[in-house]
Amino acid sequence: MKRRTLGATGIQVSPLGLGTVKLGRDQDVKYPTAFTIPDDQAAGKLLRRARELGINLLDTAPAYGNSEQRLGELLSGQTQDWVICSKVGEEFNNGQSHFDFTPENTRRSVLRSLKRLQRDYLDIVLVHSDGNDVDIIERYGTLQVLAGLKKEGLIRAVGFSGKTLAGGLRAAEQSDVMMVTYNLDYKDEVELLDYCATHNKGVLIKKALASGHLGEDVGAGLRFVLQHPAASSVIVGTINPKHLAANVASIRD
Ligand code: NAP
Repeated sequence: MKRRTLGATGIQVSPLGLGTVKLGRDQDVKYPTAFTIPDDQAAGKLLRRARELGINLLDTAPAYGNSEQRLGELLSGQTQDWVICSKVGEEFNNGQSHFDFTPENTRRSVLRSLKRLQRDYLDIVLVHSDGNDVDIIERYGTLQVLAGLKKEGLIRAVGFSGKTLAGGLRAAEQSDVMMVTYNLDYKDEVELLDYCATHNKGVLIKKALASGHLGEDVGAGLRFVLQHPAASSVIVGTINPKHLAANVASIRD
């Protein structure tokens, strides 16, 4: 797969990235069918297969259970070979999410991600919104805190994974990268994608398959989102190696 430049960050990403919710969390998730979190052997194999297929981008978060920790361990010694996107703001403990967007927690969370992922710096860190996008931006200044951590050399690119158009547009002004929901059934944030294209903001698409609820042909769904000029990469969450290969093939054709 031909790599694409992520906005103005200089980071090169494969047009398909691997989402890793299902490597670390199986409670309180919205997938249509139940699943078992892959063991280390299966997860390691999935990551090696992703690499062979040309994928260089992994998306994780403290909210995805032990996903960050597992990636650090499974990729031990090779985490530098991947572009890794993580997040701040949502925590998932004892089967429950809670949110903390304060400056103190933001810094603490980034330092913890560095440790878990066994990295000296993080490629991309996004605010993991709880849906109150504008409130997070105005009240906590989380994006400014991330910008400070970027200045310290701990992060290469910062941004926002939101849930509203208004919040996304506000956040994009202060972001290098935006993670945006976009699929054949959900186009409410296309104005944000247009803004990002015009202002050279990097865009990662999430939920391109509506978390597995999209009834359409998967390949058509992926090709649709990648047609938007803002989209650098579509992050698809899968733990099925056959699905992974089919997804890559569908956007290669
Ligand atoms: P998604 O990528 O739209 O859909 C994932 C679901 O689609 C999985 O259940 C997967 O099942 C299934 N799937 C994948 N390829 C398939 C294929 N070829 N055929 C049939 N089914 C297929 O949804 P998502 O996981 O919610 O979102 C993707 C990623 O975006 C997440 O992993 C996460 O990294 C990120 N994300 C971020 C946020 C946020 O920041 N707020 C929110 C949501 C998601 P199998 O495992 O069986 O393949």
